[in-house]
Amino acid sequence: LNAIVTITEDVAETQSIESEKRFYIEKNIKPLDGITIAIKDNFCTKNIPTTCASEMLKDFIPTYDATVYSKLINDGACLIGKSNLDEFAMGSGTVDSIFGPTRNAWGYNGDTDWRIAGGSSGGSAVAVSTGVCVAAIGSDTGGSTRNPAALCGVVGIKPTYGLVSRYGLIPLVNSMDVPGILARNVEDATTVLNCIAGPDKLDSTTIKRDFKPIELKDIDLSNVKIGIPTEYLCEGMSKEVIDTWKFVEDLLEKEKAIMKTVSLPHTSVSIAVYSILNQCEVASNMARYDGLEFGLRTNEDYSTEELYASSRSQGFNNVVRSRIFAGNYFLLTRNYEKYFLKALKLRRLIADDFKNVFNGENCVDILLTPTTLCDAPLYGDFVSKHNRDQCAFQDYCTQPANMAGIPAVSIPIRIINTEILSKLNISLDILPPKCQELISK
Ligand code: GLN
Repeated sequence: LNAIVTITEDVAETQSIESEKRFYIEKNIKPLDGITIAIKDNFCTKNIPTTCASEMLKDFIPTYDATVYSKLINDGACLIGKSNLDEFAMGSGTVDSIFGPTRNAWGYNGDTDWRIAGGSSGGSAVAVSTGVCVAAIGSDTGGSTRNPAALCGVVGIKPTYGLVSRYGLIPLVNSMDVPGILARNVEDATTVLNCIAGPDKLDSTTIKRDFKPIELKDIDLSNVKIGIPTEYLCEGMSKEVIDTWKFVEDLLEKEKAIMKTVSLPHTSVSIAVYSILNQCEVASNMARYDGLEFGLRTNEDYSTEELYASSRSQGFNNVVRSRIFAGNYFLLTRNYEKYFLKALKLRRLIADDFKNVFNGENCVDILLTPTTLCDAPLYGDFVSKHNRDQCAFQDYCTQPANMAGIPAVSIPIRIINTEILSKLNISLDILPPKCQELISK
């Protein structure tokens, strides 16, 4: 299914021998001893290739570990491999990788009939859904952990921005990136989150307060106020997704949760705002790959400018190049105010919409929305010209959480004995306020 791009057998062996030693000789067990994990190939892993699925970093072997990886290893996990992604995590399908697309195990019917895994952390989602590993790490800038988790039927967590260190995660959009977790159930995902969360002096944007591990407990739903944002019911959302959303809403109501219709009025502009901010940060982040200090170097020796140009045009795919191009356009002096500054102001209003529903009068505890607009599309349909043009729309339900910095968890919903007949996976996203605000409440 092309989920893993580098298999790390030797690393897994060394790490599992250490776990065994601890278990049998030292009688000291760590929380992840014996637990297999995969890590998306945009997290640096010392002495293990880290490619971002791009020609540009095809030969890059980091000399240091991402904090997330070192914490997992310290807690006993063993790395089975690095997982596939869209180049530099730009995409929603895991279809744009130098290693080729990742295939979804669900709906797989041979080489000519298969569905996309979602993206950009599709490799991680497929590795977990097929049992290749217990949990996997993805990244989530606009939905890249939750989208593939939803299409592959696993749990996907996007933590509060700053709860988990970004050190060693090759940046896409620094102000929105968060490491994400994919696992087969909430318990496993929580165990991993408890290992990787917390302040890190190597990432100044991490939340400084010590992290208190989460303990799962049953909650009495009769006290819980759940908001259904009207704006999330959008054009292009499939009937199965809408029916699933409604079904779960009714179910929660039967369990005596207080269901409320709420409004997040700036949702309609969020795709445009996300795209502008994403492309501006991409243009700036990608500037480092010049073929001299970092990244692929071509054989061009006519002039430095030509070397830059040829290295960058061979090193990046069309998606990356067009984002760099658009981002630089938005950042031109004459456009800066019109696009970038305006987008920043709108981003604040989008974040304020969430604050209002969580804190204002008539407030709710959590929001319930769909994760994706439909179940996993067939590969051919997804990469068709029309759908390429519509690509940004895939993130309609997920990217607002990234712009607001709030956490979200995508949960697979399997409904038995009803009229809702999707044989594929449909998931709903639960959005709570930022963890800092929950603590202060
Ligand atoms: N699909 C979005 C994008 O291409 C989200 C990517 C992500 O979360 N890494 O920007």
